[in-house]
Amino acid sequence: MSSEGVTVTGAEEYPVFESFDDYELDENLLRGIYSYGFEKPSAIQQRGIKPILDGRDTIGQAQSGTGKTATFVIGSLQRINYGERHTQALILAPTRELANQIYKVALALGDYLKVRAHACIGGTSIQEDKDKLRDGQHLVVGTPGRVYDMVNKRHLNVDYLKVFVLDEADELMSRGFKDQIYDIFKCLPPDVQVCLFSATMAPEILDMTTKFMRNAVRILVKKDELTLEGIRQFYVAIEKEEWKVDTLCDLYETLTITQAIIYCNTRRKVDFLQDQLTKRDFTVSCMHADLDQKDNSPGESVLLAEPQNLPEA
Ligand code: ADP
Repeated sequence: MSSEGVTVTGAEEYPVFESFDDYELDENLLRGIYSYGFEKPSAIQQRGIKPILDGRDTIGQAQSGTGKTATFVIGSLQRINYGERHTQALILAPTRELANQIYKVALALGDYLKVRAHACIGGTSIQEDKDKLRDGQHLVVGTPGRVYDMVNKRHLNVDYLKVFVLDEADELMSRGFKDQIYDIFKCLPPDVQVCLFSATMAPEILDMTTKFMRNAVRILVKKDELTLEGIRQFYVAIEKEEWKVDTLCDLYETLTITQAIIYCNTRRKVDFLQDQLTKRDFTVSCMHADLDQKDNSPGESVLLAEPQNLPEA
């Protein structure tokens, strides 16, 4: 992973670690990192892992794709005492998909440590969660609702928790998880280490950091260039709304398009376009908030999606 185009500020009191070998990590964790294919820490990993290892409250401000996940997963895995089965690291993420992704990274990096990890997410069997948690898990990753439910009902014992991580804190807040997160905080040991990662530092995130974090190390990773390299963007100016479908079909006839995501402004438009394209023999899947999460699992060549916050086109 290249650190070009990235500037980092904060954590001046910490040196930059150029190699994973320099952190004095458990040998089995280091094996996990190299086996996963990482060779060199990314910009945020170079600054963010050490404060976590030192037990410091840590704020990492970075866009997704900068290597945050491995930063807090490596930090958390090293903080765990594997001689005990208590849950010592708890990671919250805003979506089930992200929680699952983090869980898989934790299992992979912690493979040689024989970490016991569990993903505690909505939409799965509560009984299975209870059984897995009763069995003892070193690290739990989850979405706030299910995690709070498990903590509140004492299926997840947080008395031995050392590290509490909030990933994509701004997303957690914008998805309305504030109350559940505050409720979880209230159940945690008072001296728990808090690590918070967020792309922005909106006022409600700052509020949370002042309420629950002490003397935090703050690291800011800025990506100078947000548009992705290698992607060209075009727009087609269309005079009349009713010409759009035909124009789209023209594009399909002229270009070779094997997979596509088409964003529409409204759910009604998504349904309309699905109908139109299906009539013209396209295989189409739809994703919007009126559908179940189950229905929102496309496997087709054209996907119509309603983005949550796209500006009016
Ligand atoms: P974020 O959590 O900031 O969204 P990720 O941790 O998911 O970012 O990292 C983005 C991608 O970069 C992933 O595919 C991840 O495996 C890869 N990656 C992360 N750190 C490194 C590293 N040190 N070396 C190589 N690849 C890395």
